[in-house]
Parts: sequence; C-alpha cells; structure tokens
Amino acid sequence: MNTLKQFINGQFIDALSGRQLEVEDPFEGKIIGLAPDGDASDADAALRAAAAAQPSWAKKSAPERASYLRAMAAQIRANRVELAQTLAREQAKVMPLAQVEIDFTADYFEYYAGWARIYEGEIIQSDRPNENIFLFRKPIGVVAGICPWNFPFFVMARKVAPSLLAGCTAVIKPSSLTPLTTFAFAGMVEATGLPAGALNFVSGRGSTLGDALVRHELTDMVSLTGSVEAGRDIIRASADRITKVSLELGGKAPAIVFKDADIDLAVKAIVDSRVIFGGQVCNCAERAYVHASVFDEFVEKISLAMSKVSYGSPFAEPAPQMSSLIDSRQLDKVEAMVERAIAEGAEVVTGGCRAEGSGYKYEPTILAGCTQQSEIVQSEVFGPVLPILPFTDYDEAIALANDSRYGLTSSVFSSNVSLVMQALKDLRFGETYVNREHFEGMQGFHAGWRQSGIGGADGKHGLMEYLQSQVAYVQY
Ligand code: NAP
Repeated sequence: MNTLKQFINGQFIDALSGRQLEVEDPFEGKIIGLAPDGDASDADAALRAAAAAQPSWAKKSAPERASYLRAMAAQIRANRVELAQTLAREQAKVMPLAQVEIDFTADYFEYYAGWARIYEGEIIQSDRPNENIFLFRKPIGVVAGICPWNFPFFVMARKVAPSLLAGCTAVIKPSSLTPLTTFAFAGMVEATGLPAGALNFVSGRGSTLGDALVRHELTDMVSLTGSVEAGRDIIRASADRITKVSLELGGKAPAIVFKDADIDLAVKAIVDSRVIFGGQVCNCAERAYVHASVFDEFVEKISLAMSKVSYGSPFAEPAPQMSSLIDSRQLDKVEAMVERAIAEGAEVVTGGCRAEGSGYKYEPTILAGCTQQSEIVQSEVFGPVLPILPFTDYDEAIALANDSRYGLTSSVFSSNVSLVMQALKDLRFGETYVNREHFEGMQGFHAGWRQSGIGGADGKHGLMEYLQSQVAYVQY
C-alpha cells in the first residue's frame, strides 16, 4: 500500500489536517494507496513556501530555470515504465496510452525548457523623440495548479512547466482520485535539487484544500483543468481578491462528416477519439453530424467498428483499446444519461449497457434518433457513447455544431478544401481538427470558447498566461 505525504518546501511531511483519503484501483476495485486529505492548513503551508521561494527563483536566468525542467524530463525518462504502471493502475488507463502520457510529459518539459531563450518583451515606438517604451514580461508570482483525474500526469506538467519557466513558483493539487503518479513525480523533483518551495504538491479534496488554495491571499493565479462546475466555483471564490484564473473546462466536441468525406477515415478517427481512455477526454468527439446522403453508410460502419472495440485490464497483452471508467459514479452517470436518452426516443444501434467483468466498464455505444436539444447531445457524457444526427446542408451542419454551451474542440471531415476553409471560418470552437482524430499538439494553444474555459495552455500563448507585462517609459 502506497502511503503519500505532502511535498511542501522541499520535504515530504504528514498532512497538517491529520486525515487521509483512500485511492482506488478502478479496474480491480481495490484500495491501493492512502493520500493526505489536506485542508486549509496544508494550503497555507504550501503557499507560504511557494511565496518565500518565488523572488529568488525569478532572479535566476530563464536558461537556469530551464535546466531544472530538463532535469525533470530526464527523471521521467529514467522512470518511464514505473510511472506508466502507476498511472495505469490508479486510473485504469491502458498501458500503451499511459506510456504515451508519460513520454509526452517528458517531451513537454523539454519543449518548455526551449522557450527560455525565445520568449521576449517588446520595445514600442514612443510619441517623444528621446524616449523608449519597454514592455517587460514578468512572472505573475505564486500559481495554484488544480488538476483533473483524466490526464493527471500531463495536465500537472501543463501547469508546472510554464509556471517554473516564467519564474513563478507553484502549488499543485492533483485530483483526489489520482494522486499517485503526481506524488511519484514529487520524489523526482526532489532528486533534481530544485530550490525548496519552488514546487509544492498537496493532496486533498477540491471543496476543502482546493477552495483554500483559490481563496488564499498568497495565490496570484489559479490554473484549473476540470469541469465547468468547478470552474464556476473557482470564479466565485477568486472574486473577492480578483485573482487571475486560467480555466480549461469541459467540452462537447462535434464531428461533422460532409458528403464528400472519406467515410472510412472519418469512422476510424471518430471511433479512436471516442474510445480513447473510455471517452474520458475533454477534446473527444462527443456528438457526430453526418450528411443525410451518407448517414446510413456511416452509421453501419461506425457501429461495426464500435462493436469490435476491445476492453479489459489496463495491463492485458495485447492491450485492449479501453478499460474501466474512473469510478462507480462516472459509470452511473454514463448509464443514467443513456437511459434518459432512450426514454426520450433514442435508438441504441450498438452497446447501451454496462459491460460484464471487472472494472466500471460501459460498452462502446452508438445512439441514433436523438434530438439536438436532448441532454445526450447538449451535455458532456465523458464515456464511450456517441449520438449521431443527420443534416441536409452546410448551414444546418454548422448551426447544429455551434449550438452548444461548450466551445472546446470540433472536427470536420471533407475532401473539399473550400468547404473546410469555410467551416473553419464559421465554427465557434477553440480548436478544429480536419480529417483526423481529436488530439492537440504541445506547440498549439488549447483554449476553450464559451463555458469551456478562460485562457488556455500550450505553446507560446500558454506561456504568456503565466507572465504579466510591465511597461516602462524611459526618456533619455
Ligand atoms: P472536477 O471534478 O471539476 O475536478 C477537477 C479538479 O478541481 C480536482 O482536483 C477537484 O478536486 C478540483 N475542484 C473541484 N471543485 C473545486 C473547488 N470548488 N475549488 C477548488 N478545486 C476544486 O473535474 P474532473 O472530474 O477531475 O475532470 C473531468 C473534467 O475535466 C471534464 O469536464 C473534462 O472535460 C475536464 N477536462 C478539461 C480539459 C481541458 O483541457 N479543457 C482537460 C482535461 C479534463 P477533487 O476532485 O480532488 O475533489
């Protein structure tokens, strides 16, 4: 049994709250760890350590700060298989995908290390002859990074790498469902010799520890990846102190299949993005709109492909395509949403029920006959369930896709370049994938529109989230 301790000011210590949380292996249904159930006192200790460390961390040159990111990447690579195994166990992520997440995270630290010699300020033309206007970019200060359970390792890096590179210090709270990989990383951070307090890891629940991190006077910025509901709570909790928030929230990605699409390619891409990690991915295709002339062919092919999706133990060889959902609550939620859709008239083309055997598994499911206004088309399912609706013309397809309170990602399948370019102009989403699966690159900018978030992550613009400007008017 793995028993975790908080990592505060460079040391592993017992939770000041004195309480612990159980961590479950969702596939086996067994308790595999105990993690601190931290509260406001843990938040306070970690934020004080981060605030004390921040001025001297920011004084180091950016390349020196980057050297620690490279050391973190090296630690991850040296422990890549053990980390992937821990990740696979704590959240039932199939091993190949867990390994991709670990390796991608090492790349991510190296990628942001590369920004040390690239990010820059500006010199702006003045109205006066003997004056320069300088725009400096300075670290925001202390960042509270709050992470979800679906990509606990990668999303942690999405907050740690740009924070540290920018000269911020950070306190990271993993989801209370998946703290194990994050705290394994804390041990690796210790091995890099990172100055004490620059990076702290605290475990506990969002409603107690998370809320305390957001409300604390030493928090200069909150970076949350999570649900719209948590985003709303954090906006409210940060309002008193007008603390900066960066929110990456849920999605309800539409996939539009036009009549000139390569149907086989669309089927493969949509199935891949719907069943990866059991559909528990924010940018997954959550609803499909298919031109009426190819609707029957598409439904037949995708139903066949979904019915062949394999699922089983995350450690099975050869690896299945998916495993258990994260917990019984998530399985109950998916099941209830499908039942309500059926009660409203949806037809189950394939799947539509829990799967037998270990884990909280749900069968890959295709639904037809859903209405645009139904819950299954409007709300995030976060499971392997895809409602498919027909459309008759371009305007209808775009209107249906845009008709959502979410605006994270979308995808378009067509061989007509003009139509694709028109769709890119008309779709109202932070990201659109054309003729491919839903998956973003670290050099892009992952940022949701509408209720999918405020601000974003990755690339140059993701780094800018952690920097604030200072303008100096220098007359000579
Ligand atoms: P969640 O329930 O909102 O939790 C996310 C994190 O926020 C957890 O650490 C949680 O703590 C904490 N939290 C919850 N309420 C809080 C509050 N009032 N104050 C401070 N912290 C609070 O989300 P999840 O179920 O872990 O993750 C799934 C969601 O994340 C989905 O909606 C998915 O679309 C979204 N997501 C979005 C992106 C993106 O890039 N846009 C990426 C990944 C996931 P505890 O759970 O430990 O209590």
